[in-house]
Amino acid sequence: MSPLEVVPLRAFADNYIWTLRDARCAALVDPGDARPVLDYLRAERLELVAILNTHHHADHVGGNSELLRHSRVPVYGPHDERIPEVTHPLHDGERMSLPHFGIEFTALAIPGHTRTHIAFHGAGMLFCGDTLFAVGCGKLFEGTPREMHDSLARLMQLPDHTRVYCGHEYTLANIRFARAADPENAALQALEAHARKLRDQDLPTLPSSIGQERATNPFVRCGEPPVVASASRYAGKALEDPVSVLAAIREWKNHFR
Ligand SMILES: [Zn+2]
Repeated sequence: MSPLEVVPLRAFADNYIWTLRDARCAALVDPGDARPVLDYLRAERLELVAILNTHHHADHVGGNSELLRHSRVPVYGPHDERIPEVTHPLHDGERMSLPHFGIEFTALAIPGHTRTHIAFHGAGMLFCGDTLFAVGCGKLFEGTPREMHDSLARLMQLPDHTRVYCGHEYTLANIRFARAADPENAALQALEAHARKLRDQDLPTLPSSIGQERATNPFVRCGEPPVVASASRYAGKALEDPVSVLAAIREWKNHFR
Protein backbone atom coordinates (compact mmCIF):
# COMPACT_ATOMS: atom_id res chain seq x y z
CA MET A 1 0.00 0.00 0.00
CA SER A 2 1.33 3.45 -0.82
CA PRO A 3 1.72 5.83 2.09
CA LEU A 4 -1.04 8.19 3.16
CA GLU A 5 -0.35 11.86 2.54
CA VAL A 6 -2.29 14.94 3.61
CA VAL A 7 -2.20 17.64 0.94
CA PRO A 8 -3.55 21.18 1.32
CA LEU A 9 -5.55 22.41 -1.67
CA ARG A 10 -6.09 26.15 -1.59
CA ALA A 11 -9.49 27.73 -1.99
CA PHE A 12 -10.68 31.33 -1.87
CA ALA A 13 -8.30 33.74 -0.12
CA ASP A 14 -6.99 31.56 2.70
CA ASN A 15 -8.96 28.29 3.01
CA TYR A 16 -7.31 24.89 2.94
CA ILE A 17 -9.15 21.85 1.65
CA TRP A 18 -7.21 19.06 3.38
CA THR A 19 -6.95 16.09 1.06
CA LEU A 20 -6.03 12.65 2.39
CA ARG A 21 -4.60 10.64 -0.44
CA ASP A 22 -2.47 7.73 -1.50
CA ALA A 23 -1.51 6.70 -5.02
CA ARG A 24 -5.08 5.90 -6.01
CA CYS A 25 -7.75 7.48 -3.79
CA ALA A 26 -8.58 10.74 -2.03
CA ALA A 27 -10.84 11.90 0.79
CA LEU A 28 -11.56 15.59 1.35
CA VAL A 29 -12.06 17.66 4.46
CA ASP A 30 -14.24 20.74 3.97
CA PRO A 31 -14.31 21.23 0.20
CA GLY A 32 -15.63 24.78 0.05
CA ASP A 33 -15.03 24.92 -3.68
CA ALA A 34 -15.20 22.02 -6.14
CA ARG A 35 -12.97 23.53 -8.81
CA PRO A 36 -9.49 23.16 -7.25
CA VAL A 37 -10.45 19.68 -6.07
CA LEU A 38 -11.64 18.47 -9.47
CA ASP A 39 -8.50 19.87 -11.11
CA TYR A 40 -6.31 18.09 -8.57
CA LEU A 41 -8.14 14.75 -8.74
CA ARG A 42 -7.94 14.79 -12.52
CA ALA A 43 -4.27 15.77 -12.66
CA GLU A 44 -3.30 13.11 -10.10
CA ARG A 45 -5.75 10.46 -11.43
CA LEU A 46 -7.32 9.98 -8.02
CA GLU A 47 -10.68 8.50 -7.20
CA LEU A 48 -12.71 10.41 -4.62
CA VAL A 49 -13.83 8.09 -1.79
CA ALA A 50 -15.32 10.36 0.90
CA ILE A 51 -16.06 13.89 2.02
CA LEU A 52 -15.79 15.06 5.64
CA ASN A 53 -17.43 18.32 6.77
CA THR A 54 -16.67 20.06 10.06
CA HIS A 55 -19.38 22.75 9.96
CA HIS A 56 -21.98 24.30 7.70
CA HIS A 57 -20.25 27.48 6.48
CA ALA A 58 -20.22 27.85 2.70
CA ASP A 59 -16.43 28.12 2.47
CA HIS A 60 -16.29 24.59 3.95
CA VAL A 61 -19.21 22.81 2.26
CA GLY A 62 -19.86 24.87 -0.89
CA GLY A 63 -18.19 22.31 -3.18
CA ASN A 64 -20.12 19.29 -1.85
CA SER A 65 -22.94 19.16 -4.38
CA GLU A 66 -20.80 19.61 -7.48
CA LEU A 67 -18.32 16.98 -6.28
CA LEU A 68 -21.19 14.57 -5.63
CA ARG A 69 -22.39 15.07 -9.18
CA HIS A 70 -19.03 13.66 -10.31
CA SER A 71 -18.84 10.84 -7.77
CA ARG A 72 -21.42 9.56 -5.31
CA VAL A 73 -19.44 9.18 -2.11
CA PRO A 74 -20.38 9.15 1.56
CA VAL A 75 -20.41 12.56 3.26
CA TYR A 76 -19.64 12.63 7.00
CA GLY A 77 -20.56 15.67 9.07
CA PRO A 78 -22.57 17.02 11.98
CA HIS A 79 -26.31 16.60 12.48
CA ASP A 80 -27.31 19.89 10.85
CA GLU A 81 -29.96 20.47 8.20
CA ARG A 82 -27.82 23.29 6.85
CA ILE A 83 -25.55 20.64 5.27
CA PRO A 84 -28.10 18.71 3.20
CA GLU A 85 -25.43 16.59 1.48
CA VAL A 86 -24.38 14.79 4.67
CA THR A 87 -25.22 11.09 4.29
CA HIS A 88 -23.61 9.93 7.57
CA PRO A 89 -24.37 12.42 10.38
CA LEU A 90 -22.16 11.89 13.43
CA HIS A 91 -22.87 12.47 17.09
CA ASP A 92 -20.14 13.26 19.57
CA GLY A 93 -17.93 10.23 20.09
CA GLU A 94 -19.15 8.33 17.02
CA ARG A 95 -16.51 6.77 14.83
CA MET A 96 -16.22 6.56 11.08
CA SER A 97 -13.65 4.81 8.98
CA LEU A 98 -11.91 5.35 5.70
CA PRO A 99 -11.33 1.67 4.92
CA HIS A 100 -9.31 2.42 1.81
CA PHE A 101 -6.66 4.12 3.96
CA GLY A 102 -7.12 1.79 6.93
CA ILE A 103 -7.79 4.67 9.31
CA GLU A 104 -10.58 5.64 11.65
CA PHE A 105 -11.74 8.98 13.03
CA THR A 106 -13.81 9.88 16.06
CA ALA A 107 -16.18 12.84 15.80
CA LEU A 108 -15.72 15.39 18.59
CA ALA A 109 -18.49 17.92 19.19
CA ILE A 110 -16.73 21.27 19.58
CA PRO A 111 -19.36 24.04 19.58
CA GLY A 112 -18.34 27.69 19.76
CA HIS A 113 -17.73 28.90 16.20
CA THR A 114 -21.01 27.27 15.20
CA ARG A 115 -23.56 25.35 17.25
CA THR A 116 -22.96 21.97 15.58
CA HIS A 117 -19.26 22.17 14.71
CA ILE A 118 -17.38 18.86 14.92
CA ALA A 119 -13.75 17.80 14.59
CA PHE A 120 -12.39 14.55 13.23
CA HIS A 121 -9.67 12.94 15.34
CA GLY A 122 -7.71 9.81 14.55
CA ALA A 123 -4.42 8.38 13.26
CA GLY A 124 -2.50 11.16 15.05
CA MET A 125 -4.43 13.85 13.19
CA LEU A 126 -7.05 16.43 14.11
CA PHE A 127 -9.20 18.20 11.52
CA CYS A 128 -10.77 21.02 13.47
CA GLY A 129 -12.29 23.37 10.86
CA ASP A 130 -12.72 26.89 12.25
CA THR A 131 -12.72 26.12 15.99
CA LEU A 132 -8.99 25.88 16.70
CA PHE A 133 -6.52 27.76 14.50
CA ALA A 134 -2.75 27.90 14.82
CA VAL A 135 -2.34 30.50 17.60
CA GLY A 136 -6.03 31.43 17.45
CA CYS A 137 -9.63 30.31 17.51
CA GLY A 138 -12.72 30.91 15.40
CA LYS A 139 -15.16 33.75 15.87
CA LEU A 140 -18.12 33.01 18.13
CA PHE A 141 -20.87 33.15 15.50
CA GLU A 142 -23.27 30.80 17.27
CA GLY A 143 -21.61 29.83 20.51
CA THR A 144 -20.69 31.31 23.86
CA PRO A 145 -17.24 31.95 25.35
CA ARG A 146 -17.96 29.06 27.73
CA GLU A 147 -18.63 26.68 24.84
CA MET A 148 -15.48 27.75 22.98
CA HIS A 149 -13.43 27.47 26.16
CA ASP A 150 -14.70 23.96 26.84
CA SER A 151 -14.24 22.87 23.21
CA LEU A 152 -10.65 24.13 23.12
CA ALA A 153 -9.94 22.56 26.53
CA ARG A 154 -11.21 19.28 25.19
CA LEU A 155 -8.92 19.43 22.17
CA MET A 156 -5.96 20.25 24.45
CA GLN A 157 -6.49 16.85 26.13
CA LEU A 158 -5.23 15.18 22.94
CA PRO A 159 -1.60 14.05 22.79
CA ASP A 160 0.94 16.85 22.19
CA HIS A 161 2.20 15.36 18.93
CA THR A 162 -1.29 15.31 17.34
CA ARG A 163 -1.07 17.15 14.03
CA VAL A 164 -3.61 19.97 13.83
CA TYR A 165 -5.13 20.71 10.42
CA CYS A 166 -7.09 23.98 10.59
CA GLY A 167 -9.42 25.45 7.99
CA HIS A 168 -7.52 28.67 7.26
CA GLU A 169 -4.04 30.15 6.90
CA TYR A 170 -4.31 32.78 9.64
CA THR A 171 -1.11 32.02 11.54
CA LEU A 172 0.92 35.22 11.05
CA ALA A 173 -1.99 37.53 11.86
CA ASN A 174 -2.83 35.35 14.85
CA ILE A 175 0.75 35.57 16.13
CA ARG A 176 0.66 39.37 15.88
CA PHE A 177 -2.36 39.44 18.17
CA ALA A 178 -0.95 36.74 20.46
CA ARG A 179 2.18 38.81 21.06
CA ALA A 180 -0.04 41.57 22.41
CA ALA A 181 -2.17 39.22 24.51
CA ASP A 182 0.69 37.04 25.80
CA PRO A 183 3.68 39.44 25.66
CA GLU A 184 6.12 37.39 27.75
CA ASN A 185 5.78 34.24 25.68
CA ALA A 186 9.14 33.51 24.07
CA ALA A 187 7.78 30.54 22.11
CA LEU A 188 5.71 33.00 20.06
CA GLN A 189 8.77 34.83 18.78
CA ALA A 190 10.42 31.63 17.62
CA LEU A 191 7.22 30.52 15.96
CA GLU A 192 6.79 33.87 14.24
CA ALA A 193 10.24 33.66 12.63
CA HIS A 194 9.51 30.13 11.45
CA ALA A 195 6.04 30.97 10.12
CA ARG A 196 7.31 34.04 8.31
CA LYS A 197 9.95 31.99 6.56
CA LEU A 198 7.31 29.53 5.37
CA ARG A 199 4.93 32.25 4.18
CA ASP A 200 7.77 34.05 2.35
CA GLN A 201 8.10 30.87 0.31
CA ASP A 202 4.32 30.72 -0.11
CA LEU A 203 4.19 27.51 1.98
CA PRO A 204 1.49 26.62 4.53
CA THR A 205 2.29 27.09 8.22
CA LEU A 206 0.07 24.08 8.94
CA PRO A 207 -0.33 21.52 10.32
CA SER A 208 0.29 22.80 13.80
CA SER A 209 0.35 20.42 16.77
CA ILE A 210 -1.48 20.26 20.07
CA GLY A 211 1.85 20.79 21.85
CA GLN A 212 2.54 23.92 19.80
CA GLU A 213 -0.93 25.30 20.55
CA ARG A 214 -0.55 24.64 24.27
CA ALA A 215 2.68 26.66 24.16
CA THR A 216 1.59 29.55 21.93
CA ASN A 217 -2.18 29.93 21.60
CA PRO A 218 -3.59 32.63 23.95
CA PHE A 219 -7.11 31.19 23.61
CA VAL A 220 -6.01 27.94 25.27
CA ARG A 221 -3.79 29.81 27.77
CA CYS A 222 -6.57 31.83 29.41
CA GLY A 223 -5.46 30.73 32.88
CA GLU A 224 -1.84 31.87 32.41
CA PRO A 225 -1.03 35.01 34.45
CA PRO A 226 0.34 37.13 31.53
CA VAL A 227 -2.78 36.43 29.43
CA VAL A 228 -5.07 37.12 32.41
CA ALA A 229 -3.22 40.40 33.02
CA SER A 230 -3.47 41.69 29.46
CA ALA A 231 -7.11 40.58 29.14
CA SER A 232 -7.90 42.38 32.40
CA ARG A 233 -6.17 45.50 31.12
CA TYR A 234 -8.28 45.34 27.93
CA ALA A 235 -11.50 44.78 29.91
CA GLY A 236 -10.68 47.53 32.42
CA LYS A 237 -11.29 45.24 35.38
CA ALA A 238 -9.71 42.20 37.03
CA LEU A 239 -10.91 39.07 35.26
CA GLU A 240 -11.16 36.10 37.55
CA ASP A 241 -11.78 33.04 35.44
CA PRO A 242 -10.55 31.61 32.12
CA VAL A 243 -13.96 31.92 30.42
CA SER A 244 -14.08 35.69 31.09
CA VAL A 245 -10.49 35.95 29.87
CA LEU A 246 -11.38 34.11 26.67
CA ALA A 247 -14.43 36.35 26.15
CA ALA A 248 -12.28 39.46 26.59
CA ILE A 249 -9.44 38.45 24.26
CA ARG A 250 -11.89 37.13 21.65
CA GLU A 251 -13.55 40.57 21.60
CA TRP A 252 -10.19 42.35 21.70
CA LYS A 253 -9.00 40.36 18.70
CA ASN A 254 -12.15 41.26 16.72
CA HIS A 255 -11.01 44.91 16.88
CA PHE A 256 -7.24 44.32 16.78
CA ARG A 257 -5.32 46.00 13.94
ZN1 LIG B 1 -16.58 28.82 9.61
